[in-house]
Amino acid sequence: MAPETPFALVIGAGPAGLMAADALLNAGLPVVMAEAKPSPARKLLMAGKSGLNITKDEDPDSFLAQYAEADEWLKPMLDRFGPAQVKAWAIQHGQEVFTGSSGRVFPKSMKASPLLRAWLTDLGRRGLDLRTRWRWTGLSNGSFQFQTPDGPQTLMPKTTVLALGGASWARLGSDGAWAEILAGQGVPLKPFQPANMGFCVDWSAHMAPHFGAPLKSIALIAGAQTHRGEAIISQRGIEGGGIYAVSRAVRDGATLTIDLFPDFSTQALAARLQNRPKGETTTNTLKKALKLSGARLALVLECARPFPSEPQARAEILKSLPIPITGPRPIDEAISTAGGIPRAALTDDLMLRALPGVFAAGEMLDWEAPTGGYLLTACLATGQWAGHAAATWSGQ
Ligand SMILES: Cc1cc2nc3c(=O)[nH]c(=O)nc-3n(C[C@H](O)[C@H](O)[C@H](O)COP(=O)(O)OP(=O)(O)OC[C@H]3O[C@@H](n4cnc5c(N)ncnc54)[C@H](O)[C@@H]3O)c2cc1C
Repeated sequence: MAPETPFALVIGAGPAGLMAADALLNAGLPVVMAEAKPSPARKLLMAGKSGLNITKDEDPDSFLAQYAEADEWLKPMLDRFGPAQVKAWAIQHGQEVFTGSSGRVFPKSMKASPLLRAWLTDLGRRGLDLRTRWRWTGLSNGSFQFQTPDGPQTLMPKTTVLALGGASWARLGSDGAWAEILAGQGVPLKPFQPANMGFCVDWSAHMAPHFGAPLKSIALIAGAQTHRGEAIISQRGIEGGGIYAVSRAVRDGATLTIDLFPDFSTQALAARLQNRPKGETTTNTLKKALKLSGARLALVLECARPFPSEPQARAEILKSLPIPITGPRPIDEAISTAGGIPRAALTDDLMLRALPGVFAAGEMLDWEAPTGGYLLTACLATGQWAGHAAATWSGQ
């Protein structure tokens, strides 16, 4: 059977792929979209379960700085499709948005499903041919092979955008298996690494009552970075928004410490620890002089043994309590991943140098950013950029 010949092919129906399809349809191209899962955008829907943070309202320089060494690379894409455009896109699909006190932007419904539903309806109305349970398995001489419910299928598109996601939460679709296909095509790749993840700690038995407890009013410190936020002690280690914020530095070798009293100077804390009654136990000192209790107290007893006797040394350790992490949690649990297709493997148009006519977008690309709406914004921006460039490349 002769291979089917759609005009443009998008593989992966996450936010990056859907935005690439949107741009291709805008340019007037018929689009076939292949998605391995039975339904599209499962990770986006999962993201919506804890409040879909679509972007961040902040000044453009600090926004861009969150992409660290990828800032210059992503700048033109984020200039074209940045926070203002992300908000307009949500509103265009019937979702009013609001900005929280931290600058994070959410749809009023907080969920992803109404936005996704409206977007898919719009794309379908404009002719998107979405084929679910179509798993991309290989590529040879410009034809893309798929496993489908109707057996193996081959497509020979004029242009293609790959948007298969990173390598975490494999059950939602992004299993990173595409890396083997692209490596086989001579595309250089960077190894995947977890990003925005928790860490493993071998807690002693006395921490068990505190599993699931949040650590509030703390600051997380890693290398030069200090972040006010929350962490959660879990059976397996330590996780939560505050930990994710410093996770890159910790992953790259910095020691993780916690400041249990970010509103006090070391001197002020040491003053409170002066002149304690002779023979007072450590636990009583911490409870009475500092009102420490619950998970915060347990953490000190766990991580600051032997507890120093001098007030100054005590204050110092409470301001920088070392957490004995043994490594990051498994990559599949990470909110996002670093690694994948490096900038050097792509043209400025996000076309793979090794595969002319094939573009890539979203978390497949080697950039990383903290949580806070930066991930979705860059997925949408790179999807839009790649879709637009693919349309231009195909001569439309
Ligand atoms: C719990 C959680 C909460 C999050 N919350 C937020 C948030 O609030 N704000 C934010 O900015 N980001 C958030 N993120 C991150 C965000 O969801 C991702 O960065 C984003 O979904 C990545 O988009 P993508 O299109 O690149 O890839 P994905 O969304 O992973 O989509 C890739 C698609 O490709 C498909 N695919 C993979 N392999 C194949 C194949 N071989 N053949 C065909 N199809 C294939 C997959 O099934 C999937 O549908 C969250 C992530 C998680 C896990």
